[in-house]
Amino acid sequence: MAAYVYPEYEVVRDRTKCINCRVCERQCSHGVHAYLAGAKTMTEDSSKCVNCHRCVCMCPTHALKIVKSDDTYKLNANWTCRTVNEIYRQADTGGVLLSSMGNPAEYPIYWDKMLINASQVTNPPIDPLREPMETELWLGARKVSIERDEKGRLRDTLPVQLKLDLPIMFSAMSYGSISYNAHESLARAAAELGIYYNTGEGGLHRDFYKYGANTIVQVASGRFGVFREYLETAAAIEIKMGQGAKPGIGGHLPGAKITADVAETRMIPEGTDAISPAPHHDIYSIEDLRQLVWSLKEATDYKKPVFVKIAAVHNIAAIASGIARSGADVIAIDGFRGGTGAAPTRIRDNVGIPVELALAQVDQRLREEGIRDNVSVVVGGSVRSSSDLLKAVALGADACYIGTAALLALGCHLCRSCHDGKCNWGIATQRPDLVKRLDPEIGYKRLVNLVTAWKHELEEMMGGMGINSVEALRGNRLMLRGIGLTDRELKILGIKCAGESI
Ligand code: SF4
Ligand code: SF4
Repeated sequence: MAAYVYPEYEVVRDRTKCINCRVCERQCSHGVHAYLAGAKTMTEDSSKCVNCHRCVCMCPTHALKIVKSDDTYKLNANWTCRTVNEIYRQADTGGVLLSSMGNPAEYPIYWDKMLINASQVTNPPIDPLREPMETELWLGARKVSIERDEKGRLRDTLPVQLKLDLPIMFSAMSYGSISYNAHESLARAAAELGIYYNTGEGGLHRDFYKYGANTIVQVASGRFGVFREYLETAAAIEIKMGQGAKPGIGGHLPGAKITADVAETRMIPEGTDAISPAPHHDIYSIEDLRQLVWSLKEATDYKKPVFVKIAAVHNIAAIASGIARSGADVIAIDGFRGGTGAAPTRIRDNVGIPVELALAQVDQRLREEGIRDNVSVVVGGSVRSSSDLLKAVALGADACYIGTAALLALGCHLCRSCHDGKCNWGIATQRPDLVKRLDPEIGYKRLVNLVTAWKHELEEMMGGMGINSVEALRGNRLMLRGIGLTDRELKILGIKCAGESI
């Protein structure tokens, strides 16, 4: 006996505006809308609606809206509607609850509890329209001392570094979890912006080898699509140890999404589930990680920086310290709000910590140990705006990964149902009829616009602070003040309270 769960959303159709054009029926991959020929009218099945807003946006007469249902069980602060419905679903299926995108629960958002400084009187602001602002940066170990050989000659060997025109990169999203057109949009935008996109764990489609100079390729526990040419084509290599949306577990791309093209790229049979294990089966210590870092460097003639990506977890500072000593060039930290194509709901919503706290602790620990310049730190996991970006850099990040924001620029409406493979916006799907809804020509321009807008805003805010380079902003926590935070939180973030002077 299946329990009846009332739909979470209701489709409201204004019949005075509806012209029965059936656009909504054609646009909805979930089969919500249907035409009743006999009655010459449209009907809807709200139980199938995921609130992706495709029909709302496409309806030519604005006849549709999707509203949150106000139907509720008897009010109970402990047993909320969501909790009860989840139990009904699990009793129906016996399965793990699955979700997509980032953790939507109401935890504190520390970006919103930090305020930015501005220059007044003695330290004048800088006008970014009239004065140069430096947003370029290099990721990787820095030379902090002059070295000479036995004859006193200057050693001019620099560690391998990755140059970025601004401190933004597109997060790892695999071909398979997102569509070919979404990947192409990201790759083209990265190339135009002088930044990088990341293949995720799905390998690199042959068509995108031409964007190799702006590509970071991932080596994850499943090793999908990893071979020498893949490594050599990229600008950098990222070892994925963990992911913010699902720390401590592997990945799972259902067989339905493993089309012929995805299968070839991943180097696995078509239609089989792509399951990457929770651990790398050759890594059980920092020493093991070090071996993989140096194996990848050796395989690419020591020309590629190696990133190690980890989820933000409780002991993050000590873990990062180990990674910095493993020979990695960049540590990428993914916070618990990071997006995903599919994750168990309980893990997405309960495991890990906010990236703001993780970043502050990692930066501080690496400084205390005198190894901060041996490695760069990149953070991701819900960097939503240029002000989040600026705050991240002031807290100690060299650069940020943006994932969800990039998908929003491509048209994502955050319906959080990527895992069902029916994304109506052509992003998290492999269905050809849906993929073609995202035009990569438009997609890449929208990404370029988004990042360009953030660059302008970043320069404006930096100018207001009297800072003219990202390098001078990095780790400059005096530029931040906390508001509504406890003393303990302020201490972990390493910032003063709003109103406190230096
Ligand atoms: S798209 Fe709008 S106007 Fe067309 S059938 Fe649907 S609700 Fe009616
Ligand atoms: S990518 Fe598509 S399916 Fe995923 S949240 Fe965005 S709109 Fe929904």
